[in-house]
Amino acid sequence: MKILVVNAGSSSLKYQLIDMETEGVLAKGTCERIGIGGSVLKAKGNGKEKVYNQDMPNHKVAIELVLSALTDSDIGVIEHMDEIGAVGHRVVASGEYFKKTTLVTPEVLEILKEKTFELAPLHNPAAYTGLTACIDVMPNTPMALVFDTSFHATMPEKAYLYGIDYEDYKAYGVRKYGAHGTSHKFVSQEAAKYLGKDISEVKTVTCHLGNGSSISAVDGGKCVDTSMGFTPLAGVLMGTRSGDIDASAVEFLARKKGMSHAEIITYLNKKCGVAGISGVSSDFRDLIAGADQGNERCKLALDMFAYQTKKYVGSYAAAMGGLDCIVFTAGIGENTPIVRAGVCEGLEFLGVKLDAAKNADKNDGSIRDISAEDSKVKILVIPTNEELVIARETAELL
Ligand code: AMP
Repeated sequence: MKILVVNAGSSSLKYQLIDMETEGVLAKGTCERIGIGGSVLKAKGNGKEKVYNQDMPNHKVAIELVLSALTDSDIGVIEHMDEIGAVGHRVVASGEYFKKTTLVTPEVLEILKEKTFELAPLHNPAAYTGLTACIDVMPNTPMALVFDTSFHATMPEKAYLYGIDYEDYKAYGVRKYGAHGTSHKFVSQEAAKYLGKDISEVKTVTCHLGNGSSISAVDGGKCVDTSMGFTPLAGVLMGTRSGDIDASAVEFLARKKGMSHAEIITYLNKKCGVAGISGVSSDFRDLIAGADQGNERCKLALDMFAYQTKKYVGSYAAAMGGLDCIVFTAGIGENTPIVRAGVCEGLEFLGVKLDAAKNADKNDGSIRDISAEDSKVKILVIPTNEELVIARETAELL
């Protein structure tokens, strides 16, 4: 079966067509600037790329264009859109309404729209728009919703609750939901496979370190804790996000800066993190270059990021009562030896011992074991593949 994976943003739409027999990517592409003029689809298929500079006033037109690229006489990989067995849609937030991958029905659509938009106001409405556009264009094709939060649904109450009035948690659903679930799931499964172990026997801390970063404790294949919270603002400091901060400091800062509730949240999402600390950039390549040139605040930002990540690894080893494996993944996790070294440094007491030479090896896109021969804990670098998880979940559901 061939599965189309769709990741819709407010003005963008990314897709991959995956052949489930081989799990190979047949075609992929991105529509940009949907609804804002100057739209473009960059589509790849048959080893070629084609750029469609075509007006896409809405997501429906974007999906129609994607389907014409998939059936194109030059870069197309299918003859007819009936060959697409199902579509898997990435959805950021599920709240407590959906605990697992869900087949789209009119009732599901209604809950998605009425209940979950306020949990992820930037992301979920965009996913909904992409989804309804797909339904319009492919009314007979099954659609699945694959949530970033589902993998975290196994967290116990003691891990996901905040210390607020329990009745308020019940009334408003304010709790930790987590993020990047498809990535944490994928790399924890790949780690067990790579180690030749049954996943039920492995205690892993997965560090998804990218522009957004989250760390998860995965015990026996199940998530038991994660660093992101009610929204993806929580946990370690990130590219431009503050990460965890005392709620009273937020109110204090808003008062001092004369900001409204909405403004201070935008500030914490967009103006903070390593970009705010360094005053230079949210991109770790710039921070490393700055630190190499003696910029102390770039160095501080790198130190804070590694330190905060390390504390999660240590606390999750405590939460699981042991640690067999640490996985680094995503843009920073896969490409930044200095961060991996900073995270592992000082964790020798847990049996974590990095091999400096292996850690310095270039990322070749494969799974790499960067632990020392005598390290009790395996340290792996695993390229993430969120689209493949979405396709697998969709196929399993069918
Ligand atoms: P992601 O959100 O997973 O796409 O990660 C994006 C981030 O990864 C970028 O903002 C950079 O900070 C970081 N990154 C990507 N490539 C590299 C690289 N080669 N070296 C260092 N950092 C990188």
